[in-house]
Amino acid sequence: MRPHRQMMWRYTAPQLRFSVFRRGYRVLAIESSCDDACVALLERSDGETVVVDQDKATLDSSADGGIIPTSAYTFQQQTIAPLVQRLLTKHNLFAENRPDLVCATRGPGLAGALSAGLQVAKGLSVAWNRPLVGVHHMLGHLMMPTVVTDGECPPKFPFISLLCSGGHTMLVLLESITKHRVLANTIDIACGDSLDKCARHLGMEGTMLGKELEKYVDSMTDAEKTEYAEISTEDRSNRFSFQLGLPLRKQQIPDGPVKVNFAFASFLSLLQAYKPPLGIDEETVRKFLAFKTHHTIFTHIVDRIKAVFRRYPELQDVQDLVVSGGVAANKTLRTLLTAELAIRNPHMKLHLPPPSLCTDNAVMIGIAGIELFENAGVTSDLSITPFANWPLDQLMDVDGWKPVP
Ligand code: ZN
Repeated sequence: MRPHRQMMWRYTAPQLRFSVFRRGYRVLAIESSCDDACVALLERSDGETVVVDQDKATLDSSADGGIIPTSAYTFQQQTIAPLVQRLLTKHNLFAENRPDLVCATRGPGLAGALSAGLQVAKGLSVAWNRPLVGVHHMLGHLMMPTVVTDGECPPKFPFISLLCSGGHTMLVLLESITKHRVLANTIDIACGDSLDKCARHLGMEGTMLGKELEKYVDSMTDAEKTEYAEISTEDRSNRFSFQLGLPLRKQQIPDGPVKVNFAFASFLSLLQAYKPPLGIDEETVRKFLAFKTHHTIFTHIVDRIKAVFRRYPELQDVQDLVVSGGVAANKTLRTLLTAELAIRNPHMKLHLPPPSLCTDNAVMIGIAGIELFENAGVTSDLSITPFANWPLDQLMDVDGWKPVP
């Protein structure tokens, strides 16, 4: 027996009234791709986006030594709905006074964690009779600096974005909201993951190990930093007998089919294999390793960006480079990039969003959702499922998109 099977699928889409969007509209955005549960309320009018409010809770994984997917799933299931309810109650947003668009992260990320946020978003979309946009998480990071600026001109298409976080390290050319070209990607782990793992190996503790490593390096005296910076680790002929070269250095082919890549896995394996020579105290060795590893990871990022510019000379005409993702707040990265652009691409403006907006948040999901809704003219079907993997250059090649009515 197949009761009413056809009936289930033969329905008429409700006629949405979009006149409200011409006057300005409100957007509820949800992010739940990993260990941050975030919700934001944005207001859009006259081409301007205002962040009305946002709320966030983060899973404490310090005892686990990293994020466990099942723990992230349970955390999002427990957290995201109450967080949304709190924001809606605070702003008196109910059926008669409901937001006009619901955005939620569809991927990439941890499938269970993503589905917790996406389900809440679908429920609200159905209950409020409002359209849903399933947003690409990285597109959120990439678009964030286009609206939250330091008071200067925001970047304009085409612009280059360096996304570096615990899950991703990639350099992307954004030609439009839907057209992206990945110029370089990591072939193993992300820079933030590498920083965390190296920091743990060096004895740092806490939830944000990469940040702890940065703090530890910052706490060294200027004399120590100068001394360590001057010691070459190209080979082992230094007093620490430590070798730490830049990965993929041989990839300096200026043209041809070779893709430029990042690689961050070797930093930890070199630290694990290292045996310090006799006669140097433990704390000095630890400081030296921390300084060199931290500095070399960021030097590698800048070195690969230089390789991309050699590989694709047409990029010299691009006017803006934005940095986004959780690692974008790192001061060493900011300093190295600023210095590099000042020498080789002085016409290119570097956009560094405030550190608080570089980590995962729901505002960026709202911003990317608005762009997809207004400029790409799409919304998502209620049948969409979360994607653990979703290549950025396949943003529009997946199921579930439908035109704005
Ligand atoms: Zn992220």
